[in-house]
Amino acid sequence: MEKREAVIYGINGPVVTVKSAPWLKMLEMVYVGNERLIGEVIGVHEEDAIIQVYEETSGLKPGEIVCGTGGPMAVTLGPGLIGNIFDGIERPLREIENLSGAFISRGLAPDAVDMDKKWQVEIIAEKGQKVSPCEIIATVQETGLIMHKIMVPPDVSGEIVEIAENGEYTCRDVIARLRTNEGEVKELKLVQRWPIRTPRPYAEREIISKPLVTGQRVIDILFPLAKGGTAAIPGGFGTGKTMTQHQLAKWSDAEIIIYIGCGERGNEMTQVLEEFTGLVDPKSNQPLMNRTLLIANTSNMPVAAREASIYTGITLAEYYRDMGYHVAIMADSTSRWAEALREISGRLEEMPAEEGFPAYLPSRLSEFYERAGYVKGLNGSCGSVSIIGAVSPQGGDFSEPVTQNTKRFIRCFWGLDKSLAYARHYPAINWLSSYSEYVDDLADWYSENVSPDFISKRAELVRILQEESALMDIVKLIGADVLPDDQKLILEIARIIRVGILQQNAYHKNDTYVPLDKQFKMVETVLYLYDKCKVWVNEQAIPVSQIIKTGIFDTVIKIKYDIENDRLDKFDDIKKAIDALEF
Ligand code: ADP
Ligand code: MG
Repeated sequence: MEKREAVIYGINGPVVTVKSAPWLKMLEMVYVGNERLIGEVIGVHEEDAIIQVYEETSGLKPGEIVCGTGGPMAVTLGPGLIGNIFDGIERPLREIENLSGAFISRGLAPDAVDMDKKWQVEIIAEKGQKVSPCEIIATVQETGLIMHKIMVPPDVSGEIVEIAENGEYTCRDVIARLRTNEGEVKELKLVQRWPIRTPRPYAEREIISKPLVTGQRVIDILFPLAKGGTAAIPGGFGTGKTMTQHQLAKWSDAEIIIYIGCGERGNEMTQVLEEFTGLVDPKSNQPLMNRTLLIANTSNMPVAAREASIYTGITLAEYYRDMGYHVAIMADSTSRWAEALREISGRLEEMPAEEGFPAYLPSRLSEFYERAGYVKGLNGSCGSVSIIGAVSPQGGDFSEPVTQNTKRFIRCFWGLDKSLAYARHYPAINWLSSYSEYVDDLADWYSENVSPDFISKRAELVRILQEESALMDIVKLIGADVLPDDQKLILEIARIIRVGILQQNAYHKNDTYVPLDKQFKMVETVLYLYDKCKVWVNEQAIPVSQIIKTGIFDTVIKIKYDIENDRLDKFDDIKKAIDALEF
């Protein structure tokens, strides 16, 4: 056998250099040192190669050996992933903890999924059948919510020459053999491997036309995200990035959630685990973890694995997309990921670009966000990957490179605002600086599934909020008292929109998640009140102060708490109360 070992001569943090290994390939996965730490080749020269190591390198010495694996960094894909928590290179953290105790020791390589667990497998394909890439040959009920489709790997096709019968199998068992057109016989198991830096192929991109419904009003009404779309949530410390991502993980109508805790504090990840394990999915009444997969690479874990965690997460997402699922992936925070890039780049002594980030930061960001999409898979089923990336710019300054470059590749921008957060207006998404380029793509869906008036009423909300902002410039100079009553009315209605609709309390049982039909009824009610008020103020010259005294504005603001999500009939009472007002 060809010798696939090289000797270490330099170690600089996670970056290791080896001598005379011309056989090492770029992006090949390697085992480093006596402890067999996992690493990846990130530079090759005639005489030496550079490796980034995904585990702590302290104690590693020159002279120790690096072994090549011959293949790229890849993840294991198969039943048993959902409900699990992994590190950045797909090692199951619970398993590692069992093997090593509270402090993660190095060189442990437990399988990503439990290889001995028996799964009830329903076989679909038949002997003699010609199968193409990604064709579904069997199914496994992975959790109460997820039917796992066992697919032919994307780079394999041929004729099934042998296939198992329905029954119980583990991930070690061969369930089918296939002869390729070249005559090679391949074994198919419940698991397959796929390199993390290569997007899984699909047949074609579909048109973006359905929203990812989040139950969060400011998002669903003003700045909707599409299934298969991309969004960024930039915000300074404490403005609500993590909270917003948690809300989407809990409530959005994706079928599978992949949550990547990337470089943030470890206790936040513990909190996610504790919180999510206790939660029940409102649509199915099943534990939320039955559709959730967590990747944790917190600030105290090795920096190179943080860089990999994003690719691991997106590859897992694409795998479930290929089964025909709608997957949403959340990364908190992409800034910490970019900092990992910067640290490794610094150790490689690459020429730094803006603020020390490597010149390839934009291309890495685009490679990540480009893997989102609504696609028709090779097996004909449609699925999607939506990406929501948190960005944490220093001091909340959006002009820094990560925010600016991210903006080039996302189409939905939920800008968090420090002053809103400070005023406890949550979610602190600034309605003037945020945007969604999906509104036009989703207009038909909203009009068919919510109301034909949805888009026009949304536009009216936007217009009122913009008018308020213009008026506030005047108010700041000369006070609100001098404004004519029709303008005072705008300020009052805008306040109802801000407090009654945009503000949403994640801790309140009715308000934490609101279905679209209730969201629309809230909008309709506010605009109905506005139309009535316009008549009173403009035609009957009733002062706004007199309308305020009736308490109707406060009644409408409190709808979010007072009307339960399943009691939309109560909206009629509000309308009657408005109609009953007389001056
Ligand atoms: P970041 O991740 O941006 O640093 P967090 O998401 O941890 O900030 O939010 C900080 C705090 O803001 C939370 O602990 C919570 O008290 C509050 N908060 C954020 N969003 C909401 C919300 N929708 N409803 C209620 N409180 C919120
Ligand atoms: Mg956070």
